[in-house]
Amino acid sequence: MVTVTPKSTWGWGLLDLAVLGDDDRALRESAHRVALEVLRPAAMKLDRMTPEERIAQDSPFFSTMATLKSLGYHRLFLSREAGGPEERLSALTQSIVLEELGWGSLGLATAFLVDMLPVMAISNFGSQQLKDELMVPWVNDESGAYHGCWAITEPDHGSDFLGLRDAESPSFGRAQLVAEPVEGGWVLRGQKSAWVSSGPIATHAAVHAQAGRDGDVFHSLFAVVDLRQRGVRRGPPADMMGVRDDPQGEIFFDDVFVPEGNVLVPPGALYPAFADQLLCLTSSVLSNVAVGVARACFEEALHFARSRIQGGGPLSRHKNIQLTLYSMFESVETARAYARATLAHTQANMPGENPSALGASPRHSRAAQVYTKRVAFDVAHDALQIFGAQGLSRDSLIEKLFRDARCLLIEDGTLEILSLDAARDLIDNYERETYDLEEMLTKW
Ligand SMILES: Cc1cc2nc3c(=O)[nH]c(=O)nc-3n(C[C@H](O)[C@H](O)[C@H](O)COP(=O)(O)OP(=O)(O)OC[C@H]3O[C@@H](n4cnc5c(N)ncnc54)[C@H](O)[C@@H]3O)c2cc1C
Repeated sequence: MVTVTPKSTWGWGLLDLAVLGDDDRALRESAHRVALEVLRPAAMKLDRMTPEERIAQDSPFFSTMATLKSLGYHRLFLSREAGGPEERLSALTQSIVLEELGWGSLGLATAFLVDMLPVMAISNFGSQQLKDELMVPWVNDESGAYHGCWAITEPDHGSDFLGLRDAESPSFGRAQLVAEPVEGGWVLRGQKSAWVSSGPIATHAAVHAQAGRDGDVFHSLFAVVDLRQRGVRRGPPADMMGVRDDPQGEIFFDDVFVPEGNVLVPPGALYPAFADQLLCLTSSVLSNVAVGVARACFEEALHFARSRIQGGGPLSRHKNIQLTLYSMFESVETARAYARATLAHTQANMPGENPSALGASPRHSRAAQVYTKRVAFDVAHDALQIFGAQGLSRDSLIEKLFRDARCLLIEDGTLEILSLDAARDLIDNYERETYDLEEMLTKW
């Protein structure tokens, strides 16, 4: 009799099995080990700690971030010029790593992403001096000495700030973080919301601030700010229902000086287009993380259904459970396909190595975010039901995953606002875009 030893194809989607080469498979294996052995255990500990304990010096948050850095994960997504791998990771490989990080912990994946955001912004928009003085040591750091955050929302501007370009419109009104021009730079006054991921512990922030107005139209700037300087204060860390493994909190700016060289996108014509493209990137990235959350929930439910005996056999023998498991699987597979296609499209068409490219698609990236977040929550909901009362126990992983998946429906934009944003793009641009056919053909 021939026996077949199954390869370790846990959680492998159709796309993985069909198209991954050996290197990509190896990277996926090692990212999964990090998610399983480093992120998951730390996330479970952090989830049970008080907000203050989570940001104390001996918190597993810091050791986990340091581990990710010592393994070089923060360099994986960068170009070679910015300190990344010799050969740039393909969008597919990036999706694979992002899914694994999301599988391990939504909070720690979020902390990882917001840490990278200022570095990526400097690498695309920063001066050589800023690159040498800040980006290079940040990228070379393997101890977690640097940690970034992305300070967008304000107490009175949550969803309003999501369509960042709306921050330029009259309805937005006066921002709660304003930038005033001074000799050699800008002074920041005001605050950001209590929900800034990694806000309580970040050393640097990528900050959006309102920088003056022309009549009814406000202008914004985007800058990297050193949060270790005088005038920066933090609010207490928030005590959230989910995503507790990444501390969130307010940042106050009391006359904080930002040198001109730290302004990456100055007020002016570029800002709305830049903001729009940045949201395409963050939507595409987060959708791959959301697929990881969905897959984690599906796998928890599958393992449980195979072992829990009710009605004379394992739950997985019962038709209703089988149909639910199948539907979860189908959702994860389709969400993964859409998330990966969107990241590939966004990366190929947004500014980066090609600063004049502004072609990432808002409606597709928002649709990817809405769809994958909804899948993550629906799958978490079904998984919890399969667990019965055990799923409600604080001791079970699915209880944490369910809370995290619920937060996803708000993090980085509520489903409603993301959908409205996509609808606006549809209504304004669908079938109205003009393509340079000749240029497109040369790309093929
Ligand atoms: C886990 C997590 C991490 C986060 N990380 C960050 C971060 O790193 N940096 C940062 O700056 N912020 C962060 N946020 C904040 C996040 O971006 C906001 O919570 C989100 O954009 C929604 O804003 P809000 O919470 O103020 O809700 P609101 O804007 O007050 O919305 C409340 C409700 O009203 C609806 N609504 C709002 N406006 C409209 C409208 N015009 N039309 C119809 N319905 C509307 C919304 O859909 C929602 O249901 C984070 C939030 C969470 C939960």
